[in-house]
Amino acid sequence: MLIRVPFRASTVVLVAGAVAFAGCRSAEAPSPHGLDLTAIDRSVDAGDNFYAFANGAWLKRTEIPADRSTWGPSEAMTEDTALRTRQLLEEAARAAPAAGTVPQQAADYYASYMDDAAIEAKGLAPLQPLLDRIGAIDSISALSRALGEELRADVDALNATNFHTDRLFGVWVTGNLNDPAKSVPYLLQGGLDMPDREYYVADSARMAAVRNEFVAHVSQMLRLAGVPKPDDAAAAVVALETRMARVHATRAESLDVLKANNPWPRAEFPAKAPGLDWAAFLSAARLDREPTIVVWHPAATRGLSALVRSEPLSSWQHWLTFHAADRNAAILPRAFVDARFAFHGKVLNGTPQLAERWKRGIAATNAALPEAVGQLYVGRFFPPETKAQMQAMVKNLIAAFGARIERLEWMSPATKVKAKQKLATLRVGVGYPDKWTDYRPLQIVKGDAFGNRQRAELFDYQRHLGKLGAPVDKGEWWMSPQTVNAVNLPLQNALNFPAAILAPPYFDAAAPEATNYGAIGAVIGHEITHSFDDQGAMFDADGRLANWWTTDDLQHFQAAGAQLAAQYDAYMPFPDLHLNGRQTLSENIADVAGLATAYDGWRASLGNAAAPAVGGFSGPQQFFLAYAQSWLVKWREPALRQAVITDGHAPGEFRADAVRNLDAWYDAFEVKLGRKLFLPPDQRVRVW
Ligand SMILES: [Zn+2]
Repeated sequence: MLIRVPFRASTVVLVAGAVAFAGCRSAEAPSPHGLDLTAIDRSVDAGDNFYAFANGAWLKRTEIPADRSTWGPSEAMTEDTALRTRQLLEEAARAAPAAGTVPQQAADYYASYMDDAAIEAKGLAPLQPLLDRIGAIDSISALSRALGEELRADVDALNATNFHTDRLFGVWVTGNLNDPAKSVPYLLQGGLDMPDREYYVADSARMAAVRNEFVAHVSQMLRLAGVPKPDDAAAAVVALETRMARVHATRAESLDVLKANNPWPRAEFPAKAPGLDWAAFLSAARLDREPTIVVWHPAATRGLSALVRSEPLSSWQHWLTFHAADRNAAILPRAFVDARFAFHGKVLNGTPQLAERWKRGIAATNAALPEAVGQLYVGRFFPPETKAQMQAMVKNLIAAFGARIERLEWMSPATKVKAKQKLATLRVGVGYPDKWTDYRPLQIVKGDAFGNRQRAELFDYQRHLGKLGAPVDKGEWWMSPQTVNAVNLPLQNALNFPAAILAPPYFDAAAPEATNYGAIGAVIGHEITHSFDDQGAMFDADGRLANWWTTDDLQHFQAAGAQLAAQYDAYMPFPDLHLNGRQTLSENIADVAGLATAYDGWRASLGNAAAPAVGGFSGPQQFFLAYAQSWLVKWREPALRQAVITDGHAPGEFRADAVRNLDAWYDAFEVKLGRKLFLPPDQRVRVW
């Protein structure tokens, strides 16, 4: 479970940008440390709209850069990180590193991506072998093999909560829900190009308009790939994906771990989900020696498999062709890049302008070689002092969370013992992993952008498959150090705080503690809480899916969750679209309890000292303002709609509203009955 909506490589390629790098605040704030006082809008009442109070002036004066769908401090940090990474990779290239070393791989991957003249000159040639293989498919067995060969480890159900893959299925390899010491492959639904089934089935004029654009996009890609009668072929592809969408689980359903825990013996796949030639499929996917595969989406697996038999081979060939072109568009000639951006960038995200190539190149290199770039990045930009400071802060916040467990009036001593056991065994990774991925088997060839990407994806898949049969490494990282984000890993009972988020404005050694605790402290509290949110609470101290609760305690906990879900259900980002309180429940529990934990941790860090006022704001006010400023983000409308439909996180504005569940916020801003955010004490949700 993440702190914020992730920038997947595919997303960054679409939304990262063409304007000159502009730091979000450093140029305009009078003090570069702590609160951004120039963002605050004192004409708003803090109790009516706390987010606008903390951020209104910034929201009024800021335009989203043309190459982005969202903009705020986190996005500025991501751009800043990309700029520094570019410098590192360009320096690495000039140093002429030895073949097979990490600097060579990262620098050559980037340089090959950047060589758009070479990519243009090759035309369709790099894609052609793939198109030829698709063209030769003449039976269900051959189709099943082709579908199996395509599988990659490109989904992640519980850590990154990434449920989207445009391949027929996605694979995730991690500890078994029932025996977390052993790795197992999970199979998740896939096959859709658009972000979620809603885009295919929702009965609204808006989605119908997007679907029309989608048909045109598929047709354009097929035309570029040289398919005759591309309009007819596109109609077949869209019809096929619409049938896939109908059998897909919803985003909220995908979060139900209890429904996902379906270990299927390999031999039973043909009977349980007839259609695919499973033997051919699993052999091509290199899963033919696994005794058991956990099927996360059993109904979708049955439905997708049946489509392999019921739909014409030619539709599947068009579908494979479309995805081969669309997925690889970034490393094909400019016409492919533009066609992909016109739909994925403009239509789906509202982004007017394609990002400059270097930004897309950095995102692509990060996606292909996350820990190779990461080694270079932390070596330069993550001082040991920062790591030590963060480790101390995490320790303080774990203690604060433990004290909150102790103080819970409704929880029985028996459940408290179990909760504290789980807290005590939480593994916290700060900055970067103890052990780096070994990239030596991966060949990165300068000048072969297309081949590099295919080899990197296959290497990544094989690396994940390599975990099968070996003891689970509970220290494994699931996020690169140069990612502005953080993640909780339920099956490892572990947290990752990458180096790139441990920087201003989230964390600044020169800033007052109140703002550090309000920003990065709340992030840390959020991730700790994920081990105890509605999902995390179903895993024990070993990361096993097991109920450690007494019946009464669990009932109380679930009732509090339902109350919080109702609170978020009531938020309306659009007149025709409200938040899904269930889909965002884990994140909202983590926000509310994480903020409370950060507040307690900050008070404890003060000891008996008083916090100095800044800009006329008391210490507690600074704490809550820093929290609301950490969620500052401006959205383009299509991107916001997409997030509401597909993301487990509420949009930043509503995350800032978590404050209304904390008594300390009412005290800090003297919020009384009658203010819009006011909740009577019995309606303030206290989950932890
Ligand atoms: Zn989260």
